Amino acid sequence: MSRIYNFSAGPATLPEAVLQQAQDELLDWHGAGMSVMEMSHRGKEFMSIAEQAETDLREIMAIPDNYKVLFLQGGASSQFAMAPLNLMGRTGKADYINTGSWSKKAIAEARRYGEVNVIADTSSDFKAPAEEDLGFSRDAAYVHYTPNETIQGVEFPYIPDTGDIPLVADMSSTILSRPVDASKFGIIYAGAQKNIGPAGLTLVIIREDLIGHAPESCPAMLDYKIHADADSMYNTPPTYAWYLAGLVFQWLKDNGGLDAMAAINARKAAALYAAIDDLDFYANPVDPACRSRMNVPFTLADAGLDARFLEEAAQAGLKTLKGHRSVGGMRASIYNAMPEAGVQALIDFMHEFAQRNA
Ligand SMILES: *Cc1c(COP(=O)(O)O)cnc(C)c1O
Repeated sequence: MSRIYNFSAGPATLPEAVLQQAQDELLDWHGAGMSVMEMSHRGKEFMSIAEQAETDLREIMAIPDNYKVLFLQGGASSQFAMAPLNLMGRTGKADYINTGSWSKKAIAEARRYGEVNVIADTSSDFKAPAEEDLGFSRDAAYVHYTPNETIQGVEFPYIPDTGDIPLVADMSSTILSRPVDASKFGIIYAGAQKNIGPAGLTLVIIREDLIGHAPESCPAMLDYKIHADADSMYNTPPTYAWYLAGLVFQWLKDNGGLDAMAAINARKAAALYAAIDDLDFYANPVDPACRSRMNVPFTLADAGLDARFLEEAAQAGLKTLKGHRSVGGMRASIYNAMPEAGVQALIDFMHEFAQRNA
């Protein structure tokens, strides 16, 4: 069978070396005589796995000491509620930037907890707002934004400078794709199933002074302090997903860390956008300055060919290219684990398909 490349937006492709190692260790982890899945989360074996994963992530992302790293459940969608629940109480207000589908969900959820000011809305424009157009409310408890809109394929080319107002970022589809200065953020959160590991794990990187502000009525499971005080073991954490994320962090370290990923990701994205731009047959709707390096939506000049494109691509081993229903066309998600050869195979197919159907 020829090589399959999976362009799914999430759950997404994982590094083959990681899956291979997980397979090797599946039945018997390091001589423990049991699978990681079967271990007590409080036993010394799993504790060592958990600690190593956090140490490696801190090293890869250069996370400052005054930040906690939490390994939670509930997905990024739970953070849409958890962030306002924990942070909004201080002023009852928060600023949100709306750049697309995931921003909208975060905004809708935050409105349950207080006053949401949408300070910029480019959600229909396939671009991020210009930095100089952003003005923040004096009494905002925090500013929330989505650095990479997974569905629209829109990525911020800058980090908003919010001064003393904590910046909260839903980094689900861009975390680990390049170095970021974590100290610029109050909270970074991400569902794992895009660029970290399997679904079921949610990473939260939170500055310590933002912990401990949840109201009395906050459910324990949604209180950052409860999880921080318990080292993410207040209840049973998603142990196997945590372990697999740890293997991905090791893989990132073995492969040059985030500087190396950034360079590879820039090459992959540039090659794919060049193919889209060079052929009249394809188009990408995003402002070139805000094109995502992780999620590349594209349309065919003749949408009547979409079904054939998808079918023939799948036959060529290029899977899960169907675009999100709200944008249409195709979407190629090219996270860290997508090899350059996979992107090249897609580009070759696009050229060939365009020639045959022009
Ligand atoms: C996938 C995604 C989500 C939703 O994540 P869940 O873990 O399914 O809740 C939220 N935000 C962004 C930017 C995403 O890409």
